[in-house]
Amino acid sequence: MTNKYMYFIANWKMFGDLRTINTLDNVVKFSKSNKKNKFKIIYCPPNTLIRPLSKRLNKTKIEVGAQNCHENENYGAFTGSVNSKMLKNVGAKYIILGHSENRQSGETDRLINLKIKSAIKAGLKIIFCIGETLAEKRNKKTNQVLAKQINTGLKSVKNKSNIILAYEPVWSIGSGLIPNNNDLLKTVSFIKSKFTKKGPKILYGGSVNSKNISQLKVINIIDGFLVGGASQSSKNFIDIIKKTFN
Ligand code: PEP
Repeated sequence: MTNKYMYFIANWKMFGDLRTINTLDNVVKFSKSNKKNKFKIIYCPPNTLIRPLSKRLNKTKIEVGAQNCHENENYGAFTGSVNSKMLKNVGAKYIILGHSENRQSGETDRLINLKIKSAIKAGLKIIFCIGETLAEKRNKKTNQVLAKQINTGLKSVKNKSNIILAYEPVWSIGSGLIPNNNDLLKTVSFIKSKFTKKGPKILYGGSVNSKNISQLKVINIIDGFLVGGASQSSKNFIDIIKKTFN
């Protein structure tokens, strides 16, 4: 059982339409009724749902975030893109950056760094994702890879108070696999060691569900969970939160 303040971030990826928003009613009810535990729920829907979700969640403690942005802080001729101030304007308070699904389609650490800086300027809080591939893990390169992602991704970011780190091993995302507790503890401790004492919150993400949460929650240096697939069901998402505190 934990009595720590925990984050539960739902990454809806490219799922959801206007009807999906109704499924949040249960989560709102749960969040309002739960007086005992301390937690923050953040929903990161596709851009099309940021405005309707933030309207629906107005007057609740649940917040809304985006999943990515263009690095340019100004408006411009970038067909199909949106920048961080446009996302803020429609109700996003947070933004996921550096997600491995975007890294896999060509996002570099340097580009992620530009995005982070533009999002901070726009007043968004950053959920900064880092993680190693299976090959990197097998070659014992995890720490080296994470150090590079952190160093380049956060280069010249002086004020890190609005950064939340999400450790998401690439091999774990969507696969049903999670790291063993020993590896996870070691890796999160390594990430912590890259920052000063009052460093960012560190979340775990990758195949978190209502079954394996009992195993994951015992690692008490983790400050919460970034949940992909399982967050699309409000029942599963609520179960994850409940079981974290039980
Ligand atoms: C994610 O994509 O951020 C994620 C954690 O996905 P999943 O929970 O589906 O592995």
